[in-house]
Amino acid sequence: MQVDIIGGGLSGLATALSIKEHDSSVDVIVHEKHKRIGYNRDARKCGEAHSIESFSLKWKPPKDAIATPIYQGKITSGKKTYVFERKPDTAWILDRPAFISSLGKKAEKQGIEFVLNYKITDFTSLPGDIIVDASGCPSVVKKSLGLNQNFGYGFQQTIKNCSAYEDNTLKIIFDQNGGYYWIFPRHPENREMNIGIGLTINNNAKLPVLLEQFKKEHHITGTIDYTIGGLIPEGLQYPLRHKNIIFVGDTGVGTLPMNGQGIYRALLSGDIAGKYVVHRDLKGYAHEIIREFGRMDVIGKLLLRWNSFVYHINPNLVLASWNKYHSLNQKLSFFKSEYDTIH
Ligand SMILES: Cc1cc2nc3c(=O)[nH]c(=O)nc-3n(C[C@H](O)[C@H](O)[C@H](O)COP(=O)(O)OP(=O)(O)OC[C@H]3O[C@@H](n4cnc5c(N)ncnc54)[C@H](O)[C@@H]3O)c2cc1C
Repeated sequence: MQVDIIGGGLSGLATALSIKEHDSSVDVIVHEKHKRIGYNRDARKCGEAHSIESFSLKWKPPKDAIATPIYQGKITSGKKTYVFERKPDTAWILDRPAFISSLGKKAEKQGIEFVLNYKITDFTSLPGDIIVDASGCPSVVKKSLGLNQNFGYGFQQTIKNCSAYEDNTLKIIFDQNGGYYWIFPRHPENREMNIGIGLTINNNAKLPVLLEQFKKEHHITGTIDYTIGGLIPEGLQYPLRHKNIIFVGDTGVGTLPMNGQGIYRALLSGDIAGKYVVHRDLKGYAHEIIREFGRMDVIGKLLLRWNSFVYHINPNLVLASWNKYHSLNQKLSFFKSEYDTIH
């Protein structure tokens, strides 16, 4: 059997490795449009925050792919701040290019073939028995088939010598535009931070302009080193399979609707995909993805729809809605890591 994977990002490489883990006789070819795996522009299209749970320990990044460890999260909506203490060695800001590159090296060792520097435009020309679309957002395959994709936008700056630098602390600030800002430490040596904005309801809003306003309001200064924007898929992106094609990472499971967290979903969906691909059970893949991510997805999408509704009545109600969600979460722990303690 031959499997063609479109995209050598996290979900594509996780799928490739998982296929080989389950059946080393399968021929796996990863097609990547960039010249290099990892050290390319797409590998930095991210806030780079990554965390694991006990079931995803295998996705712990190697030491040289960690920009800085995270021990604490502060989530603010309006005047309220919720503080999460994190168990050490379970959350990080990644050096994402290095992380992707480390998976690429592992894949090479497993005999996975790479076709680099070639952008797939016509997926029907791929000869594989199964095609895995891991091309990110927007999905190359869904775009050409005219299939639905549901996404918002994100934009971020990496700032050196940043006045907002706080060691080992990840901050997310919810906003009445419906989205959120993030302030993540990146490198302690030069007080480098990733500061970004994502998923606003106000579609007329210009993210770079909003981010500058936010920095001004919070007196954040420093030297901008790197800026990048991208699409953020909100939750599961149906369909999860189409004929002999499955959708992993951003093309299929998307990101957690409440905060755009997509790295662990990309890795986990690739891991799950490998298990089913070797048995040619693509329906099984779709079912397990729904079992794994469906519940959080429903809660997240309902919250986003509700926020979008109240935004048009009064944007301040969006903050009240985020607050309700966070305080309910604090009580009921429907979205709380097993490694978090909330204050
Ligand atoms: C601004 C921003 C900030 C984010 N911050 C976070 C965060 O802090 N934490 C978090 O967990 N998630 C974050 N996310 C989400 C996260 O980055 C994604 O969910 C995750 O990268 C998805 O991985 P993927 O492998 O599915 O797709 P991608 O990382 O997009 O990889 C797709 C790969 O396919 C290749 N490719 C694309 N088209 C083709 C083609 N036609 N032919 C060949 N190759 C192709 C690309 O070059 C790339 O290597 C953020 C996203 C954005 C946009």
